[in-house]
Amino acid sequence: MARVYLNSCIDKYNDNCMTPVDAAVLKLMLTEMQCKVTDECLQLFGGYGYTIEYPISRFYVDARVQTIYAGTSEIMKEVIARSMLGK
Ligand SMILES: Cc1cc2nc3c(=O)[nH]c(=O)nc-3n(C[C@H](O)[C@H](O)[C@H](O)COP(=O)(O)OP(=O)(O)OC[C@H]3O[C@@H](n4cnc5c(N)ncnc54)[C@H](O)[C@@H]3O)c2cc1C
Repeated sequence: MARVYLNSCIDKYNDNCMTPVDAAVLKLMLTEMQCKVTDECLQLFGGYGYTIEYPISRFYVDARVQTIYAGTSEIMKEVIARSMLGK
């Protein structure tokens, strides 16, 4: 679902019709999914997953910042909500 939405946004971007709301939905959905996936992968590694000797801990940290920088998930939700409420 995420890949299909990403591809549709790329098409919109190339056609100069991608909106800030499209971007907010895309960032919110993909970055939250990235966090969920890396969290589950880290869990699979058990205690080793937490240690910096294994790349999965780095993937987890790198994923975690995605929902913070370039606009946090909460701000993405605000952008989306405002568009739905017309405010
Ligand atoms: C590694 C890294 C690189 C960065 N690179 C850049 C860069 O190149 N250029 C740049 O300009 N900035 C950059 N930033 C800054 C980044 O964009 C901000 O950290 C981000 O926008 C969040 O702002 P803040 O840290 O001030 O958090 P705050 O705005 O203080 O937010 C703290 C918490 O409160 C929540 N919150 C805030 N307002 C609301 C609201 N209205 N409703 C609900 N919840 C809310 C947030 O979602 C968050 O959970 C970078 C940050 C990091 C960590």
